[in-house]
Amino acid sequence: MSPFYPLSDRARHLPPTTTEPYAWLASSLETIHEANWYRSVQPLDSLPGCIVHSQGQAWINFASNDYLGLAGDPRLIAAAIAATRTWGTGSTGSRLLTGHRPLHRQLEEAIAQLKQTEDALVFSSGYLANLGAIAAVVGKRDLILSDRYNHSSLKNGAILSGATIQEYQHLDLADLTRQLQQHRQHYRRCLIVTDSVFSMDGDVCPLPQLLDLATEYNSMLLIDEAHATGVFGESGAGCAEYFNCTGKPMIQVGTLSKALGSLGGYVAGSAPLIDFLRNRAPSWIYTTALTPADTAAALAAVEICRQEPQRRQQLWQNVAQFKHLLATQLPQAVLLPSDSPILCLQLANPAQALQVGHLLKQAGIFAPAIRPPTVTTSRIRISLMATHTSEQLQQLVDALQSMEIYS
Ligand code: PMP
Repeated sequence: MSPFYPLSDRARHLPPTTTEPYAWLASSLETIHEANWYRSVQPLDSLPGCIVHSQGQAWINFASNDYLGLAGDPRLIAAAIAATRTWGTGSTGSRLLTGHRPLHRQLEEAIAQLKQTEDALVFSSGYLANLGAIAAVVGKRDLILSDRYNHSSLKNGAILSGATIQEYQHLDLADLTRQLQQHRQHYRRCLIVTDSVFSMDGDVCPLPQLLDLATEYNSMLLIDEAHATGVFGESGAGCAEYFNCTGKPMIQVGTLSKALGSLGGYVAGSAPLIDFLRNRAPSWIYTTALTPADTAAALAAVEICRQEPQRRQQLWQNVAQFKHLLATQLPQAVLLPSDSPILCLQLANPAQALQVGHLLKQAGIFAPAIRPPTVTTSRIRISLMATHTSEQLQQLVDALQSMEIYS
């Protein structure tokens, strides 16, 4: 059997790794290939932006989470360089030991101010923020009600907590209500968990109704604002602001790695919640603090996010323009319901999604195929940025129009 997985020149000269007890790896990879589920990495060798370069070629980038175009912004880069000069490259320890710098606290205060919460806590990634927050606030005697399409970090946080997990149908308030009626009374605490913007579909949770249900059933609500931070709400505070729910009791998690152009995650909420997390969130206590460079870049981004609403306005104009172009020039394309800059073209199966992704790439456009098991149905995921031009949006529609499946 020839290996599907890529072997480096160095690895080719090592003894084969297919001996027991590791032989199952090769056959599992083969199965993944046969199902068209195999994933490989694409090295990009340029600054982040609407145009990305790889191995001498350039593509228009519709695959990035850099919604406001900040990841390559000179001000973030300068902040990261200055922080590195002052504080070094590594933070050298956990926040409770040697890792804490004044910068971390400044960032937490800036996030709390943006989110209009009493306090905030910065984690080393959004994934770790979700793991830590969920595992801290519920345990074995508790219940988690989780949207079926929630992000992997929410699902794994739920598993880590040891709580009983019940999934409700995606965005289905009737199903969630049924489950609250049926199960809530049997548990000490209950946590409703949802993405505010769903990462692979782009649809948005009904936050006001979720808050009402949480109150009615004496439950906590955790929302993951990863794709909403910087994008939704007048000042970019996310769906909580967009829905006028600022100040309502809930746990808000987010990332610094998407619209804020850096790396890291946060939890924003009440002062007792944040204080409790500092004492009980394992993924905050037992990991190295965010680097000075990432922290400073995120701090610069939070400021820009609030002070330059025109970036957000341009992003939403791009969303409206792209939807209009599709509706008028390519009505046969099926767009999944979305209220965000994440727009997905539904395709019949993984092979078709891969083929469309491949043809787009040949046309100079980077918009990846997303397939099961990441999602239930195959699709091309288009992620719009504030910095895309009208011409670039038109180029994407033109490229799709020239494909046989849309002829
Ligand atoms: N939540 C959601 C909804 C996400 O899409 C992601 C990133 N893909 C995360 C959490 C994790 O954030 P980070 O990349 O900062 O770990």
